[in-house]
Amino acid sequence: MSTVIDIKNLSKSFGSHEVLKDINFSVEKGEVVTVIGSSGSGKSTLLRCLNLLETPDGGEVNYEGQNVLTHMEDVNEYRTKLGMVFQQFNLFNNCNVLQNCTLGQIKVLKRSKQQAEEIAKEYLDIVGMGRYINARPAQLSGGQKQRVAIARALSMKPTALLFDEPTSALDPEMVGEVLKVMKKLAEAGSTMIIVTHEMEFAREVSDRIVFMDQGVIVEDGTPDEVFNHPKHERTKAFLQRTF
Ligand code: ADP
Ligand code: MG
Repeated sequence: MSTVIDIKNLSKSFGSHEVLKDINFSVEKGEVVTVIGSSGSGKSTLLRCLNLLETPDGGEVNYEGQNVLTHMEDVNEYRTKLGMVFQQFNLFNNCNVLQNCTLGQIKVLKRSKQQAEEIAKEYLDIVGMGRYINARPAQLSGGQKQRVAIARALSMKPTALLFDEPTSALDPEMVGEVLKVMKKLAEAGSTMIIVTHEMEFAREVSDRIVFMDQGVIVEDGTPDEVFNHPKHERTKAFLQRTF
């Protein structure tokens, strides 16, 4: 196995509030890791530290064996390696679906427009949005917007995909279509780090579950270990509240 991301002793504070405390965490190629935990436990901050949307205060973020905190040449290029999907989609509302999926490829990866469009269409087909290339985000449902956002992330051909509560802003009837796409990607061998409250989905698709509480990784194991045989009281209490 090869390690994609390996975080060592990571810490992050906002003012006097220590949001991440001595986090150690790694992800292998092809692994699907789901991070669970209460609101405010530091899950988003952890994802954001991975792709340097936040700057950690201490520790290491090793990407393919190099600490990006000390060996960073081009942060925009680095971010393309970790495709991010957000709760609020973050689509460019003044661009159509195809442009949403080609802009980053053209601007950051310097692909030609033609090549970028070919790649974008391939991934829009995979997420079931190939018929909507000319639509504007405002014309789409939440589930469709999120599928476009996933196609946009995939179009950069990232090494890993990071999902921060991708279904939390959706109407309940649209959650399934997004989870289905994510499941398909997981089964195709994508490396994925997912923050979600969808516990059944997490159990089904994840190789590992990481439980965070108050800035600490309390438990890290297989879905069976964490869901069925949690070792820590804090995990048990969280699961009892959740299920
Ligand atoms: P989660 O995603 O698990 O809900 P977050 O990582 O968003 O948790 O937040 C963890 C804690 O850090 C929360 O208490 C939140 O209020 C705080 N926090 C997050 N981002 C900022 C910020 N930019 N400035 C100040 N506090 C922040
Ligand atoms: Mg969050």
